[in-house]
Formats: sequence, structure tokens, C-alpha cells
Amino acid sequence: LTGCSSERGGDSGGSGGSDSGAASTGFEEGATIGVALPDKTSENWVLAGKLFTDGLEEAGYKADVQYAPASNTVAEQQNQIQAMVTGGAKVIVIGAKDGKQLATQVQAAKDAGATVIAYDRLIENTDALDYYVAFDNFKVGQLQGQALLDGLEERTDHDAPYNIELFSGSTDDANSAVFFNGAMDVLQPKIDDGTLVVASGQTDIQQTATAGWKAENAQSRMDTILTSAYSDTELDGVLSPNDTLARAVLTSVEQAGKPLPVVTGQDSEVESVRSIMEGKQYSTINKDTALLVEQTIAMIGQLQQGEEVEVNDTDQYDNGSKVVPAYLLDPVIVTQENAADAYQNVPNLLEIVEEYR
Ligand code: BGC
Repeated sequence: LTGCSSERGGDSGGSGGSDSGAASTGFEEGATIGVALPDKTSENWVLAGKLFTDGLEEAGYKADVQYAPASNTVAEQQNQIQAMVTGGAKVIVIGAKDGKQLATQVQAAKDAGATVIAYDRLIENTDALDYYVAFDNFKVGQLQGQALLDGLEERTDHDAPYNIELFSGSTDDANSAVFFNGAMDVLQPKIDDGTLVVASGQTDIQQTATAGWKAENAQSRMDTILTSAYSDTELDGVLSPNDTLARAVLTSVEQAGKPLPVVTGQDSEVESVRSIMEGKQYSTINKDTALLVEQTIAMIGQLQQGEEVEVNDTDQYDNGSKVVPAYLLDPVIVTQENAADAYQNVPNLLEIVEEYR
């Protein structure tokens, strides 16, 4: 893992982007840029839409920013992308609703001469995808796994073994497996040596998945597990892949009248940052959406100028048809301890942290 997130210099990463052939000619200023985002399953997606609209217009483009609606999302997102292609968008940025179901639309974009950038979530099984821009998802998972271990040692009033449960994201999102595998890279050895015990016995990605990244699905799975596996023992920790699900898990445990376990998260959602400062949720991840949108707009600028697109990873993201040249940013783990430091450039979150100091 390179983790050279903030380097912009010419020598910071590979130049593997040149193989797409998309960067050679450039396109007119003021061109239309399409941005197809999934449904609003977390605050980061809400923010991304606004930042893309403002940032692209400020950079002189016409922005066509669309969300897949809450129902019938896959078909609707396919239609939105197709309409962007027909409308002559020069670059189409896609935060996939279902990364396995967009190959036809990505190919249509390529055939029309548009460049496609997968944003945050990889698009699978197509060699027509040009680039991927995201926070380093495997590292997100590793940081979550490590935070769970650290939190267990710090907060639990007994020694190991610790009882934990595992949650993963929606299986239609390619990130879910990467987050989970990153976390298990840290946790599996501790399960194997008996430090951690998954009392429900549910340890694989199908068993732990949360359909649609929906809070109610995580909450009801937690309810069921508490009843079946924790009637006469305590739950010490929960691996949660994001903040929305972390809060759902905490709600379930609270409603069951049990002591709160150490729970991880991701996205630095306002309510979760509050929860961390109040000593409930243990950790989150800061993936600053502003930086990710900024990086994407920088890539669009390079394409517009006909320059080679800068990437810093050319071997991690095999989408089943090709290894997609990627620009990966560095995620940051956040707990009560480093929150003030971690959010020094995020005014609204820093304000919350300061309320508690
Ligand atoms: C994003 C996470 C987010 C999740 C649910 C993932 O693809 O990377 O940041 O929590 O979607 O919205």
C-alpha cells in the first residue's frame, strides 16, 4: 500500500493511466461532465453531489449530477448514465449503485468517446472503465480491525477472550468485501488464536452482509444475534463497516438493555462524531469527501487538457476484466483521542469536538 495521498508531484505514482488512450486529445472548455451517484445511504453521498455541482461549475464545466432514487435504483442509474452518454458528456463519474450491473453503460460511454471514472466504488467486469478514484478501501478495513482490537483492550473490564460480532456492507457494493477483507486481515489471526470469539458463529461475508447498507437491516440482525447468542454472556465489540450501521448496532444493544460494546465505523457522520465524543461509538474513519471530489475534478482537468491522468496505484483494483488505474487517498482512523487533530480541516466536525472539550 502506497498511501501517498497528498502527493501531486509528477513522480508520486505510476503512470499506468496512459494505457486507456482516453487522455490524448483533450476536449473543449465548458463541456458537460456527468456525475451519477447512488442513493443517499450515508452523508458522504449527499455531500458529494453538492461538491460536484459547485466544483465542476466553478471549474467552468456544465455539471449534470444525478442520484439513483431510493427504489428501482439500478435501472434508474443505468438510464441516467445512458442519458449522459447521449447528451454528449465528455467525462462520466460514477458512484455505482451496483458495480456489477453497469458494464453495458460504461461500454456505451467509451464507444461515444467519453472517459469513465469510477468514484469511491469500483465498477466490475468491464475493460471500458478508464480510472478509479477512492480512499484506500483495504486500508479502511485494516484500520477498523485495529481500532476494534485497541478499543477492546482499552474499554473492556476483563481480559481476553472478547466476544465480538461482525457486520459488513451491502454485497452489491464492491467496497463491502474490500472493507471486510481488510478488517479480517487484522482480526482473523486473533480469532484463530482465541483472543476473539464470534459467539454467533457468523463470520463470512454472506452471513455478515447488510443489504442496501440499511440501518434497519443491521439493527434487526443485531437484535436476533443478541437474543440467540448473548442471553447469558456479554457482547464486547462489534466490527461495523460504517457509521450508519454503527449507530443501528448501538441502538439495538441499548434497547436490549445491555452494556455498550466497542463499535467501529466509517464516514465521520455528524451523529457518530457526537456519539464518539460522548463515549458511545468507539471509532470512525475520516474520508474527507471534499478531498475525493477535488481529486476527481483534478483528473477531469487533466483529461480536458489532454494530459496524462495521474494515478498512484496500478495493481490493486482488478475489476474482473482489467486492473483499473487508480488514484487512492489515505483514510484516517478517528477516536476520541485524536478527533481534534483529525478534523482540523473539517470545520463543522471540529466544532462538535470542541463542544466536548
Ligand atoms: C462507501 C462508504 C459508505 C457506504 C454506504 C461505500 O461505498 O465507501 O463510505 O459508508 O458506501 O453509503
